[in-house]
Amino acid sequence: MALEAYRKKRNFAATAEPKGAAPDAGSDIFVVQKHDATRLHYDLRLALDGVLKSWAVTRGPSLNPGEKRLAVEVEDHPLEYANFEGTIAKGEYGGGAVIVWDNGTWAPVGDAHRGLKKGPLEFELYGQKLHGRWHLVRMHGTPGERREIWLLIKGDDEFARAADEADILEERPESISTGRTIDQLEGEAPGWSSKTGKIEKPNGAAAAAKPKSGADARKGASKAASKGPQAPLPGFVEPMLATLTKSPPTGDRWLHEIKFDGYRL
Ligand code: MN
Repeated sequence: MALEAYRKKRNFAATAEPKGAAPDAGSDIFVVQKHDATRLHYDLRLALDGVLKSWAVTRGPSLNPGEKRLAVEVEDHPLEYANFEGTIAKGEYGGGAVIVWDNGTWAPVGDAHRGLKKGPLEFELYGQKLHGRWHLVRMHGTPGERREIWLLIKGDDEFARAADEADILEERPESISTGRTIDQLEGEAPGWSSKTGKIEKPNGAAAAAKPKSGADARKGASKAASKGPQAPLPGFVEPMLATLTKSPPTGDRWLHEIKFDGYRL
């Protein structure tokens, strides 16, 4: 089953991502999703045989034919994933914000199955931002390399741009489905958590209007606070995370221990 790897990596009780249903084998859609996960990347997905063949393009597509962009082949995704825009909870697989950066239809130039197997895969995109001819060139695998590595290169046609022309990623950073940028999604709390499932959006107005319930429990705290109205409890508080530094802090108030992944000695 083509979507087995995709489903294995996700807990569908904790993510709003689609599980993948009855496929439309004839679909010729494509999508590029901008995904701010552990590292920002752009996911290029081409529908073939009822699934989305997918590559994580680390620096995003370039309209300059002289720019080769690394494209790491990842697991097939279900067709419905093409419409997914939202936030995947931190700690989940691919946790972070996703926007639909571009979409439309695509057409292979020549035999798509052969291109996928051997490379290069030549194709045309009919998107809102990306157009014309593109090449996916398969790189020779290095021993021990788990992933298939490709290069995404713009074909030299009327849609190509020179190196000194505008970068499409900077010129059009927004979602083509909602007009939002990825920063606008990241400002909002995740819709899902792996610990509690769906997170309800905090309703500040309603919480402030009825401070009676629970007020007794907070009496001591509110007495100490100023005379102003009680603030509603936040819906989500982002936990503090460790920060990587080059050297440990100094001073008598610090105690250091060396930790060997899982064992404290
Ligand atoms: Mn991704």
